Amino acid sequence: MPAPLMDTYSPPDLNFERGEGAYLYEQGGDRYLDFISGIAVNGLGHAHPKAVAALKAQAEKLWHTSNMFRVPGQLELAEKYCRDSFADRVFFTNSGAEAVECAIKTARHYHFAHGRPDRYRVITFTGAFHGRTYGAINAGGNPKYLEGFGPAMEGFDQVEFGDHDALKAAVTEETAAIIVEPVQGEGGVRAIPDICLRGLRELCDEHGLLLIYDEVQAGAGRTGKLWAHEWAETAQPDIMAVAKGVGGGFPMGACLATEAAGDHMKIGTHGSTFGGNPLAMAVGNVVYDELTSDGFLQHVVDISNTMRQQLAGLADEHADKIEELRGRGLLIGLKLKDGYVNKTLAAKARGHHLLMGAAGDNVARMAPPLIITEDHVREAIGALDKALGELTPEAS
Ligand SMILES: *Cc1c(COP(=O)(O)O)cnc(C)c1O
Repeated sequence: MPAPLMDTYSPPDLNFERGEGAYLYEQGGDRYLDFISGIAVNGLGHAHPKAVAALKAQAEKLWHTSNMFRVPGQLELAEKYCRDSFADRVFFTNSGAEAVECAIKTARHYHFAHGRPDRYRVITFTGAFHGRTYGAINAGGNPKYLEGFGPAMEGFDQVEFGDHDALKAAVTEETAAIIVEPVQGEGGVRAIPDICLRGLRELCDEHGLLLIYDEVQAGAGRTGKLWAHEWAETAQPDIMAVAKGVGGGFPMGACLATEAAGDHMKIGTHGSTFGGNPLAMAVGNVVYDELTSDGFLQHVVDISNTMRQQLAGLADEHADKIEELRGRGLLIGLKLKDGYVNKTLAAKARGHHLLMGAAGDNVARMAPPLIITEDHVREAIGALDKALGELTPEAS
């Protein structure tokens, strides 16, 4: 890594210079099949013509005014988000972590505004990931991300993923909200069963808690529904954080809330210089229109079924190395058996020009663009088959 950059990442020795659809092209011209899409971001693939046109057109008109002035694209996109979801109020951000921060602030402030400032604690789950800002690492609770940054922040109660009794016991008079990813991404691509989301909704209703979904990774069509929690039908949140896929590669996110959970967020309670800037809104509107266009989500359902069938076949063939196929829709995890290493598998796949990622719990992760075809799936499975064939046990 060149010295002037903080050493926070360890990218492979590749320099991508252009992308088109599901492919990335290296400086030398080598083509890679992108089955990670900037970690579940480029849902429409690279250089989608409508997104490029919208960004170019906006770039020639107006880049930025800040939220001192009205940004018409915000109203347009917020109306679309609210039209098709549980939400009535939207705050635009630049990133997922900021959307999570807004969600947590909104939940705490709701109780404050209702005369209960003592209700500020937030229940979270092991294996959660909510971003890398100070509030978000504390909500995520991963000791690796907290170490070295001073005392842990007060007000988060972490419960073992799947332990229903511990969850009930964690609810106190001081609890404000529960935050959960309907499909845990970084933590190991673990989908929460629909019935458990419904259980969370009931628990929140029973105790007057707000239910916050972090759909930064699983939202924006990735699971085959616009928002992942829609699979659980009645388990709607009060507040939801989104980002990654909603901008298709342009940095943006949003915090959505119901009228009841969001109408107390008035002047002075929150803000952002860049959030919802005209360039982001130009792209965000195109992305949303594509995701909600006729047949788009059905395509995601169909192609993810194809992909999962073929992966199940691969998991059988390599049953000595693959323990489990995880996730939902096109958020896919391959949990490897002990002794095999997810990052090594990703490196081997790269050797066969397939890009994939790694998540926690020794899971290899795939999050391809939502526009992939059966040909792309076949190509990916072929490369993954070879990579798995080359994978050898490592001392851990
Ligand atoms: C990536 C991610 C975040 C953080 O988003 P950033 O844009 O990196 O700040 C938060 N929550 C979940 C579930 C994520 O996957």
